[in-house]
Amino acid sequence: MTIGVLAIQGDYEAHGRVLEGLGAKVTYVRKPEQLDDVDAVVIPGGESTTFLKFLEQQNFFGKLGDFVKTKPALGTCAGAILLAKEVEGPSQASLGALDIRIRRNAYGRQLESSIRQAETKLAGGPMEMVFIRAPRIERAGKEVEVLASAGGDPVLVRQGKIMAATFHPELSDDSRVHQAFLQMVK
Ligand code: GLN
Repeated sequence: MTIGVLAIQGDYEAHGRVLEGLGAKVTYVRKPEQLDDVDAVVIPGGESTTFLKFLEQQNFFGKLGDFVKTKPALGTCAGAILLAKEVEGPSQASLGALDIRIRRNAYGRQLESSIRQAETKLAGGPMEMVFIRAPRIERAGKEVEVLASAGGDPVLVRQGKIMAATFHPELSDDSRVHQAFLQMVK
């Protein structure tokens, strides 16, 4: 089982380290054809507009879109924005695989970046969550399971084989989100 970590921009190496620490084989995906050789994909945080520019230039967008509609994907922060069906603040193209409406940079200056503790449905008690210019999930469709909320908003969700977090699980010393993802991939 090989996990492809999209390595265009953002904190992809942190994801790679966590996944390798859990015993997974990791490939850093920089070209669309590399998706043929992985079983699941992680789309990291970063700047979603920068991802989009690159994906659209390299003919990557369609291939990644097809991939996430049939195979497991984990998107964090900008990755969650890319997976969403609807993006606001402003609206922009996305892969449309996860039935949520998400608003970019939605928490304003004061809460722009914060570390919080919140309950999750994953066993093991409250989880530390690092938010960096985080988006807010404003709507979650019927098929979407909310695995954690913080401040009244869903922050960790799952629909079928897709998981998304508006925070950065790869930056905390807690690998439960990646563990749950690998479990799903198996
Ligand atoms: N603010 C970024 C965006 O809109 C996301 C930030 C992040 O990934 N930490 O794409």
